[in-house]
Amino acid sequence: MDLSTSMRTHMCGSLDSSDIGSVVTVCGWVDRRREHGEHLVFIDLRDHSGVVQCVVDGSHDLRSEYVVQLTGEVRRRPTDTANPDLATGEIEIEVSEVEVLSIAEPPPFPLDERTEVDETIRLRHRYVDLRKARMQRNLRIRSQVNSAIRRGMESQGFVEVETPMLMASSPEGARDFVVPSRKEPGSFYALPQSPQLYKQLCMVGGVDRYYQIARCLRDEDLRADRQFEFMQLDAEASFVGQEDVFGFISHAIAEATEVVTGVRPTDFPRISWLDAMERYGSDKPDVRFGMELVELTPVFARTEARVFQAPCVKGICMPGGVDALSRNQIDALVETCQRWGAKGLAWMKVVERDSSVVLDAGVAKFLTAEESTAVISALGAGVGDMVFLVADDRRLVRHVLGLLRLELGRPPVNEGGLHYLWVVDFPLFEGFADDGSPLPAHHPFTMPHPDDLELLEIGGDALADVRSQAYDLVLNGWELGSGSVRIHRRDIQNQIFTCLGIEPAEAQRKFGFLLDAFGYGAPPHAGFAFGIDRLVALLAGEANIREVIAFPKTQSGADPLTNAPSPIDSAHLTELGLRVPR
Ligand code: ASP
Repeated sequence: MDLSTSMRTHMCGSLDSSDIGSVVTVCGWVDRRREHGEHLVFIDLRDHSGVVQCVVDGSHDLRSEYVVQLTGEVRRRPTDTANPDLATGEIEIEVSEVEVLSIAEPPPFPLDERTEVDETIRLRHRYVDLRKARMQRNLRIRSQVNSAIRRGMESQGFVEVETPMLMASSPEGARDFVVPSRKEPGSFYALPQSPQLYKQLCMVGGVDRYYQIARCLRDEDLRADRQFEFMQLDAEASFVGQEDVFGFISHAIAEATEVVTGVRPTDFPRISWLDAMERYGSDKPDVRFGMELVELTPVFARTEARVFQAPCVKGICMPGGVDALSRNQIDALVETCQRWGAKGLAWMKVVERDSSVVLDAGVAKFLTAEESTAVISALGAGVGDMVFLVADDRRLVRHVLGLLRLELGRPPVNEGGLHYLWVVDFPLFEGFADDGSPLPAHHPFTMPHPDDLELLEIGGDALADVRSQAYDLVLNGWELGSGSVRIHRRDIQNQIFTCLGIEPAEAQRKFGFLLDAFGYGAPPHAGFAFGIDRLVALLAGEANIREVIAFPKTQSGADPLTNAPSPIDSAHLTELGLRVPR
């Protein structure tokens, strides 16, 4: 694209040997300065497209990060000084005119990609940090992803509808950020955890296919893949079921992936939630590598070994683990598993003895020959492998081995390709609250699986087995997003509220407007939302979403650049009817 302006003819990184002989004007930041003989300096001039070497008369005071406009003739570099690693490495500009547009303080940290800089310092001076090639690349990937998603949704007839930022509390289950009302002291708006209720109202309103690239806010502890505020592609459609939603979303994701990687993903396999938990110990399995959890409960059904007398025994096999792990590392793994809640971690080496493959060391001596053989064969273990077993309650076994699997085998974020995976048939409820009522696994508007409606009637323990029509999209072990077929009938919705222990009065107070709307003719509808920050991070090969957000908060939720959050003055507080203990 031609990015020339009234101030520049070319971008720094766009010049090459085809420009030799032309007079050009480039603008940018002084990246590096090297003295060259007595009267000349080499300046590497940088803009977002790259750097170009410029030869300038040494009388000019051009320092690091000065903003300058340089005019001169492009010429071939002497062969011995050409730099094949640089796009512009064959040429340089012999500068005849220099205009300093802005002088600059020395930068707070070096802008090369090699120096590790403390994140708080990077964020304090984010405007300098953004000049780095890595950040420029990430911001541009993000912009491409956003436009590809928009194109992808609009080509399927989705209409972008903007929903309010100031609203009543939404049901996503996290803590709300709230905004005090000046007109009604003591009352608060909530910032949207998602546009969930509005998009369902859009369906009642006949919009048919809604989407929005929506900012969502949740007051939760921050992690590498979580910020207080984040962007979602939020979508909802009428007269559709789960399969339709998979089609819509896979299309948008494929567009976004292709525009960044050049390769269009065609494979969006499915796994049931139960299978994912049993085989990977996680509802967001990273399927870039094997090391699946293997069921060993039947092997130990009548075991004499006390450690394996438990409702559930599962194991994983780490190929080549015998050489890869030292005794100290194994001891550390045992401790880690105990921290994750296991009573212990049984480990054994697979070795060859008297020309047969057997288990050795660790707890091997407690196993009968038949048990050893059965473990080796179930795990498909070979000589030199290490096997790890956990025996306990089933939930705990899955949880601990799922984490251990990641600890031992997970590839770095930018390796192993992109593996999308739909996780389907989530349970409707996840666990029970202190008062015994079940907790919704997704949100209270999720339609139960049609085959499990009877279990809902039975109630009690049977509720744990009720499946929902909720689904997640997972990419390389990251949860990209969630969605569900919604309840559009008042009777089922009331039944769910009753199950959840939400009294009719409370339901009316919290979600009355939605229930009322359903009374005026609600189409069957379903939807989905996925995190754009997470998608962009994985497409850019970044392990932390902060690297793909222009102005993120630190892990503790602060913005070192603007100093948010910050106190407000007492007059402002009074106006809002607030008193803050000092
Ligand atoms: N509102 C849900 C969420 O943000 C997504 C959905 O069900 O569409 O997780």
